[in-house]
Amino acid sequence: MTLSTDRPTSALASPDAALTAAAAGPASIDRIEEVTLSSVVLPLATPISDAKVLTGRQKPMTEVVFLVTEIRTRDGHQGVGFSYSKRAGGPGQYAHAREIAPVLIGEDPNDIAKIWTKLTWAGASVGRSGLATQAIASIDVALWDLKAKRAGLPLAKLIGAQRDSVRTYNTSGGFLHTPIEQVKENAARSLEAGIGAIKLKVGQPNWREDLRRVEAVREFLDPDVPLMVDANQQWDRPTAQRMGRIFEEFGLVWIEEPLDAYDVEGHAQLARSLDTPIATGEMLSSVAEHLRLIEAGGADIIQPDAPRIGGITQFLKLTTIAESRQLSLAPHFAMEIHLHLAATYGLEPWVEHFDWLDPLFEERLETRDGRMWLSDRPGLGFTLSEQARAWTVASETFR
Ligand SMILES: [Mg+2]
Repeated sequence: MTLSTDRPTSALASPDAALTAAAAGPASIDRIEEVTLSSVVLPLATPISDAKVLTGRQKPMTEVVFLVTEIRTRDGHQGVGFSYSKRAGGPGQYAHAREIAPVLIGEDPNDIAKIWTKLTWAGASVGRSGLATQAIASIDVALWDLKAKRAGLPLAKLIGAQRDSVRTYNTSGGFLHTPIEQVKENAARSLEAGIGAIKLKVGQPNWREDLRRVEAVREFLDPDVPLMVDANQQWDRPTAQRMGRIFEEFGLVWIEEPLDAYDVEGHAQLARSLDTPIATGEMLSSVAEHLRLIEAGGADIIQPDAPRIGGITQFLKLTTIAESRQLSLAPHFAMEIHLHLAATYGLEPWVEHFDWLDPLFEERLETRDGRMWLSDRPGLGFTLSEQARAWTVASETFR
C-alpha cells in the first residue's frame, strides 16, 4: 500500500507519526486536584404521593436529597455531577462518598472506567449495588461532565448522538395526591409547554378509582396524545394481570412497575400475556440487577436510572446490551442527565420530564413539539444555582 504524497503529513497518515503522538501522551494527561462533595436538600412544593403512600408503605415525599460532586483538575477543567435519594439514604450516600473520594486525587479524570473500578474496590465491603453504587454515581457523572466540557461538546455528542431531541412525557402532574380535575389541567399545561405525552399514577387500593382516573384523562386528551400509567409496584400478580387486561382498551404506551421491582418472573409473565408493553427498572441499583430482568424477559421497556445504577459508565454498559435485545428505553427521573443518554440510544426512546430539579440549576431544558431538545452547552450543560448553595447542609473538599 502506498500513501498519497499530495496531502500534508499527519499523525493519521503515518504509522510512525501516530506512534510518536501516542508516546507523547503525558502532555495530554490531566490530574484531579480537588473534589468537593455536598449534600443538598431540595424541598418539594407539595408533599408527593404515589401508590406506595396509598397502600401505607411510605409517607408522602417532602424533599429530595442530592449528593453533588464537583471536580477540578490541575489544568483547570471542571465537572459537576449528582445522585439523589428519596425519603432516606441522603446522609448515607454522602458519608460513603466522603470515605472513598480521597482515592480520586491525582488520577487522570479521563480514565473514567479505571476510576469507577477504583472507587468500587475502595468501598467493596458494602457491595456493588444500592447506596454505595449511588455514591460512586455522583462522581462518575461529574467525570463525564468534565470530559465533555473539556472536549467542548454536549455529553450526548461526546458519546455519539443518534438525534438532537427525545420524545418526552410528563409525570409530575399525574400523582395520586392530585384531584382529577387538577390532573387534567396539569396535562393541558404540559402539552401547551411542548411536552408530548402524559403519565398517570395508578395502583390505588381501590382499582375502580384507578380506572375512573384513567378514563377521565383519556377522554379529556386528544386521542393522539400518548398516555402511560405507573402502579409503583403496588399490585400483586393477579391484580396486575386483571388491571392490565382492563387497561388494554386504552392503548397505553406502557404500564410501569405493575409488580414488585424484583419480581422478574412476574413481570415476564405479564409481558408475555399483555399487548400493552411493560416498563420497569427504576428501582434497580446495579447493571447486574437489570441483567436479571432482561434475561427473564421482564420488560419491554427498560427504565434505568443512571444515578441509581452507578452513573453514566454503568448506564452505557447496560444500554449496549438492551439495544442488542431491541428493548425500548425510558430512563427514570433526572432528565438533566438522561436526555443526553437517551439521545445516544439506537431505538427511539422517551425521557421523563420532571421540573423538580429546576431550582438547583441556572439553565433550563427546552421542550417543543412533544420533544426535549439538547442544548449546545458543553457537558451536561448545567451550573449549580445560588439556591442549590443555600440548600447545602454539608460539604467537604478533598485535595
Ligand atoms: Mg415510575
